[in-house]
Amino acid sequence: MNCPACKNELKPLQITGVKVQACEGSCGGLWFEWHEIKKLKDRNAAAGTELLRVKRAEGVHVFRDVQHPCPHCIHTLLYRHCFNREFKYEVDQCAKCAGFWLDAGALAHLAQDAPTESDQQKAAAYFKSLFEESLKPENLTDPDTQEAAQTIVHIFRFLTPQVLFPTKTPLN
Ligand SMILES: [Zn+2]
Ligand SMILES: [Zn+2]
Repeated sequence: MNCPACKNELKPLQITGVKVQACEGSCGGLWFEWHEIKKLKDRNAAAGTELLRVKRAEGVHVFRDVQHPCPHCIHTLLYRHCFNREFKYEVDQCAKCAGFWLDAGALAHLAQDAPTESDQQKAAAYFKSLFEESLKPENLTDPDTQEAAQTIVHIFRFLTPQVLFPTKTPLN
């Protein structure tokens, strides 16, 4: 299975019983199959932080302006739920197999070591963009987008060190 963003071969990892395919040594993106992602709502916050520490290579060419193909279905293009160039996040989903692709580059940088106060401020701006602009409550008007937003919150809650995760999310 290859990375939809940079074509590197994905590496299977398992953390707290959740299987993830990681783009290790290249863009650091993460692929979650749908039956794996459903487990996340029952996992503790920050249980998967080491996934943000997957080794990345600097200067990898990531195709940001095109839709990515699903790494599982190959011929299906991923639907983009959230994207921001400044904060370097992207969350896509496959309409066929419902798997999620996540690129959380900027957040991964903040989560590398013990986060400083400045990291916490940057993370606050990051989540403000993600939760208040990309997942604006007034845009979550139908059950499908509400379910996707819940899933996205669960993914980030699982991955993010608690000190960097906001108390207010689209779920509360
Ligand atoms: Zn990649
Ligand atoms: Zn798919």
